[in-house]
Amino acid sequence: MSSTHPPRVPTGDDPACEPPLSGDTDPEYIRQGATTTSTTTPAYRIGELIGDHCYPIYVGPEFGIFAALALRWGRDWIIITSRGELNVGRPEKGVPGVQKAAARVANEFADGNITALPPFAAEPKPVLPVGEVPLLHPRVPQTPRNIKAAEAADTTMAKYFWRRRSGFPGSDNPVDAECMLCGWVGSRYFSHLRGRNGNPPSITRHPGGCVSPDKIRELIPGYPQ
Ligand SMILES: [Zn+2]
Repeated sequence: MSSTHPPRVPTGDDPACEPPLSGDTDPEYIRQGATTTSTTTPAYRIGELIGDHCYPIYVGPEFGIFAALALRWGRDWIIITSRGELNVGRPEKGVPGVQKAAARVANEFADGNITALPPFAAEPKPVLPVGEVPLLHPRVPQTPRNIKAAEAADTTMAKYFWRRRSGFPGSDNPVDAECMLCGWVGSRYFSHLRGRNGNPPSITRHPGGCVSPDKIRELIPGYPQ
């Protein structure tokens, strides 16, 4: 491999399921990763959920080898490995996506395509400062349609006193969001923040409690009194 960018792998400083930087994924891996030579899937262990959408995958003797992170991305599943990020596609009907992702990790590891990742501490990742938040998540292509969708999402979020602290990942992937009423910051899905059928989103805005429901009703129209 002659990649000038070594793949960015999860470390103690970057424990969350973040995509590799542009160019980080070994292009050869993308090609080789399209097929595996294993005919049976080696055993693996799916670790405890990190945050709300990301699983560490362990393989090898006693399942102690940390081999990848697996996360859902839209309807697909993605694995983040020593060689970068690989989209393993949608699970077959009835198969939990994380199992599909973990099985792929086990095969990739058994085939020698990937190596162990350094251990990581499951600490919350720092959210981006307000001025540095990109419009789109690095995994979302910069198309006019996506840009328009992200701008529309920002308008809706502002209406409900939310703002993004990470790039817009689409409606059905988690985004770091800041509650403008109390300063809470955490992972939310835009599809849950925009309300439905003309109604505002849940008055229970996020875990941990927000300002009083009366205050929320005063600021945001549409809640039953
Ligand atoms: Zn709040």
